[in-house]
Amino acid sequence: MYESTRGNLSGQSASQAIALGMVPKGGLFVPSTFPVLNWQELQGLSYREVAKRVMTAYLPDFAEVTLDKIVNVYADGTFDGQNPAPLVSVGDFGVLELWHGPTSAFKDMALQVLPDLLKISLEQISLEAEVLILVATSGDTGKAALEGFKNRAGMHIAVFYPEGGVSPVQERQMTTTEGSNTHVIAVKGNFDQCQTAVKQMFSSESLKTKLWENKLVFSSANSINWGRLLPQIVYYFWAYLQAVEQDKVALGGVMNVVVPTGNFGNLLAAYYAQRMGLPIAKIICASNKNNVLTNFFAAGEYQSQRDFFQTISPSMDILISSNFERFLYEMSGRKADLIKDWYAPEKRGSFKVDLQTLNNCREVVFAGWASEEETLETIAHSYKAYQYVFDPHTAVGMKVFEDYRTSSQDSTFTVIASTASPFKFAPNVLIALEGINHKQRDEWQALADLSQLTGWKIPEGLKDLDKKKARNVDSFQPESIEEAIRKLFIKENL
Ligand SMILES: *Cc1c(COP(=O)(O)O)cnc(C)c1O
Repeated sequence: MYESTRGNLSGQSASQAIALGMVPKGGLFVPSTFPVLNWQELQGLSYREVAKRVMTAYLPDFAEVTLDKIVNVYADGTFDGQNPAPLVSVGDFGVLELWHGPTSAFKDMALQVLPDLLKISLEQISLEAEVLILVATSGDTGKAALEGFKNRAGMHIAVFYPEGGVSPVQERQMTTTEGSNTHVIAVKGNFDQCQTAVKQMFSSESLKTKLWENKLVFSSANSINWGRLLPQIVYYFWAYLQAVEQDKVALGGVMNVVVPTGNFGNLLAAYYAQRMGLPIAKIICASNKNNVLTNFFAAGEYQSQRDFFQTISPSMDILISSNFERFLYEMSGRKADLIKDWYAPEKRGSFKVDLQTLNNCREVVFAGWASEEETLETIAHSYKAYQYVFDPHTAVGMKVFEDYRTSSQDSTFTVIASTASPFKFAPNVLIALEGINHKQRDEWQALADLSQLTGWKIPEGLKDLDKKKARNVDSFQPESIEEAIRKLFIKENL
């Protein structure tokens, strides 16, 4: 069963939690208990089988044959190669490459199964309507969600991105998506403004009523949806199984994981895996210059009222880290009253936690951050040392990992979650590798240049993007996105 972090709802089934996305009156769905899974029983299984075992444990209301079909996406060629998430040995640590899906970012790992989870969930709660998925994206979620939902019967998707706040490759990936049920809209503002505007749509009663008259209900594909988080737990088990097979950890030994973090979904999945019995020792939370989480772990104060920076790791440019609420729920000892107080609207995203909660947080997580210069420098020296090319997000993780090792002298085998292919951010990766900034470098030429320089292949989904036909994108002020939705989905306006 699932309950709300703010104590206002409990006893909900998995289908209800996934179909609703977030708790209607505020709060996020969390599992009431964590099932324990013995990793030894998973040894020798394929990714799809591991996915099935991990996910079944949380989906008692899903039939086995249904889940069998859902996890098939990990074995049907949607992900390139035989292994959807290979653990690559680099130096004396491991890199878990989570970007072998259709859009070359780790979001595919979950967004290729969320549409199915949602479809079944809606059927199970007998909702006689079509769904409208609203997504706010800082770049990668948008394309991964469009790919996951395109041409799905009974589902429509509208993606909102900050105009000028995503890379040209990311923008082009979105505007070249096919499918008659997909919509892409630019918002004049930064990601936090874009996300806030989209969140407001979910609570607009008048809009919801209008949509309902048109047989439409809202749902979310952002990582506030449990159906996004659940598939992410799987690859931490997969990482451990590979580490054991590669003799990187001794029988029963522990591993550390490093997670480049924005909305805290990926990191939370690692923590949930630990709660399920996976031998993870330390989880390392890596942030870019928007280091609101690093500051929290240092002082116990979450302060989202601060300057927002646009960085070379745009998918981590987030000050309101949505899933942190779920983490604090566990760290506070599941004190819903405290969560409700910390996340009360009048606090406007800034609050201080008690010492016990803070100590619990630090027990589980080490947090650090990397500046823009350090990120570029890390891409450069990692390539020199290991001939391995990190994208800027993963490089942030690498830098914080190096800092952690130096300060802690902890030599536990460590897995870095690699969240994007370097080709998604080729111009900045080239600046790092070549040490020169060719102003006005052609974004498309950069992909070919990076391939030429490193011998790495350009992922299929990123090839010839510049030659594909792009759709025109309308742009709206954050306060007018309701108008955009009405224009697209309400019949009397068509
Ligand atoms: C989304 C994203 C992140 C941040 O992940 P969260 O789950 O939001 O913390 C990091 N790197 C890349 C490349 C991403 O797309």
